[in-house]
Amino acid sequence: MSGTPPGEAVEVAICIVGAGPVGAALACRLGAEGMPVAIVDRAALPPMEHPDFDGRAYAIASGNRRLLEAAGVWARLPLPSGPIEGIRVSDGRPGRPASPLFLHFDHAEMGEPFGWMTEARSLRVALNATLHAHETITVAAPAEAGVTRDEAGALVRTGDGRTIRARLVVAAEGRESPLRRQAGIPVTRLAYQQSGLVCAVAHERPHRNQALEHFLPGGPFAQLPMAGTEGAPNLSAIVWSERDVLAKRLMALPDAAFTREVQRRLGPHLGTIRPVGRRWLYPLAALHAQRYVDTRLVLIGDAAHGIHPIAGQGLNLGFRDVAALAGLLIETHRAGGDVGDPALLRRYQAARRPANLAMLAATDVLDRLFSNDNPAIRLARDLGIAGVHRMPRLRRAFMRAAMGR
Ligand SMILES: Cc1cc2nc3c(=O)[nH]c(=O)nc-3n(C[C@H](O)[C@H](O)[C@H](O)COP(=O)(O)OP(=O)(O)OC[C@H]3O[C@@H](n4cnc5c(N)ncnc54)[C@H](O)[C@@H]3O)c2cc1C
Repeated sequence: MSGTPPGEAVEVAICIVGAGPVGAALACRLGAEGMPVAIVDRAALPPMEHPDFDGRAYAIASGNRRLLEAAGVWARLPLPSGPIEGIRVSDGRPGRPASPLFLHFDHAEMGEPFGWMTEARSLRVALNATLHAHETITVAAPAEAGVTRDEAGALVRTGDGRTIRARLVVAAEGRESPLRRQAGIPVTRLAYQQSGLVCAVAHERPHRNQALEHFLPGGPFAQLPMAGTEGAPNLSAIVWSERDVLAKRLMALPDAAFTREVQRRLGPHLGTIRPVGRRWLYPLAALHAQRYVDTRLVLIGDAAHGIHPIAGQGLNLGFRDVAALAGLLIETHRAGGDVGDPALLRRYQAARRPANLAMLAATDVLDRLFSNDNPAIRLARDLGIAGVHRMPRLRRAFMRAAMGR
């Protein structure tokens, strides 16, 4: 909080705790409307920007691209994002060709790409630049947030003698949200005994903006088309779930052996591959907060819900929370109302909690159904995949859900 002398309180409408992609996007969206907002993160913002490609990327649904445009973030992305124009869903086993029964989603039926593959570092650079570009945003990072709340408002102490007074505090601190715990909000958790392996590969042949979701017995394997770089004109992100023990073994493999394992699962259609950037391993678990609101407090993003990455929807759900909450806050602020009003918070919860729960349940069912090598279940799901492929209305409903429409 540069410029504010110790002992003096900053007065804002909203204080967001957590400057991850979700909290930062909310600050930028509200800042774009000229609303007075503070954002606090326990980590410093600049080190969140990785100067080199680090192998991580997000699939940002087209609906959320519009949110980032309205927030002033999209135009500041320093690197091009790659469109996802087709998604092929198939069933298989590593080293064997995918099942001939498959499902193909084509963006031509919807009139726009399903989503945009955006490098994590590119999104971070754009968010940080936008946070500093909007004049009504106060950034406090690195800083610990000590929050007290009552019916009248909230007070946030940032640990350096400075204070922020706000009508509403937004908890955006990720899965282990201290504000959620402090408010006594219970959480339902699901463990998967699976880990997510994330990396990027350069390949010989172009991906033609097509993604692959390949269901394997150990967990789903996804190839997501990225915009090429000078050193890697044909580039894809790989997000791949495996049982914990095997995932750890795979992570420890030397590059050549690891690449062979990726190639066995990906198949030959993109030609030979080579790794770019580093590999990442994430333990997979789902969680859902039993309520999203408390006195002068609201939860968004992973603080409210964490889902299996099978459909690449985790961050997208967080951005949909941002769009819903920002809509209510902007409308209330313009009308001169109280942005921490319990009725407003209840409207946000009613808009987002059922939708997030439905996505959590859908990704959970998908994972259980597909991470299974039972021949009867395998046949049933292959027939299901082929059935959806032949039903245009159902296929379009799936596509609308993926795009956040
Ligand atoms: C393997 C894997 C692949 C994924 N792939 C995709 C994908 O392709 N597409 C997609 O949409 N999603 C994906 N996700 C999900 C996505 O990464 C998360 O949903 C997203 O990072 C959540 O953002 P967030 O801002 O809510 O929380 P976080 O990213 O966790 O950010 C929380 C922030 O809060 C700060 N913080 C924490 N505690 C405090 C505190 N006490 N005080 C102040 N600040 C604090 C942290 O420093 C951090 O900056 C994936 C997840 C996994 C595990």
